[in-house]
Amino acid sequence: MARDHAPHNARNDSGDDSGDDSGNDSGRDAVHDTVTRLLVAQSQRLTPTRRHIVDILAAASGPLTMPEILAAQRGLAQSSVYRNLIVLEEAGAVHRMLTRDGLARYELAEDITEHHHHLVCSTCGRVEDLPATPALERSVANAIEEAARRAGFRTQHHRLDLVGVCSRCAT
Ligand SMILES: [Zn+2]
Ligand SMILES: [Zn+2]
Repeated sequence: MARDHAPHNARNDSGDDSGDDSGNDSGRDAVHDTVTRLLVAQSQRLTPTRRHIVDILAAASGPLTMPEILAAQRGLAQSSVYRNLIVLEEAGAVHRMLTRDGLARYELAEDITEHHHHLVCSTCGRVEDLPATPALERSVANAIEEAARRAGFRTQHHRLDLVGVCSRCAT
């Protein structure tokens, strides 16, 4: 199933339509606002179920499988979560990744959260986010740009999954 490219200018940092939201949940509100905007562009809206899914993904330390999403919030039906994940993915709000175990894992799109990499455990299958530090990004960008330039490829962004054994499985 081919997915349309995500809107390039989904993020509007000019601030003239949102103002400075100084509420105590402003981070979560900002996520809801962005997801709402992406959904509205697809003639969809942020339903309670979609909001639950977004909140679960926002609180996670890495991309989640369907069972993990269902376990995080009692009362969500699998078929409903699955349907709504597709809508969120098509709107560009959710990114789906496939790991070697064949499981789909879901996370909020980097446009909504921030750029990061993944630690993929080849033993237990767990996937954790790895923050992208400026120093790491500089090194990665330099290495990638050199190789890409030789291939005549213009890089727009990168995804980096480190595959190995997590600290839990190493003991
Ligand atoms: Zn592991
Ligand atoms: Zn990076």
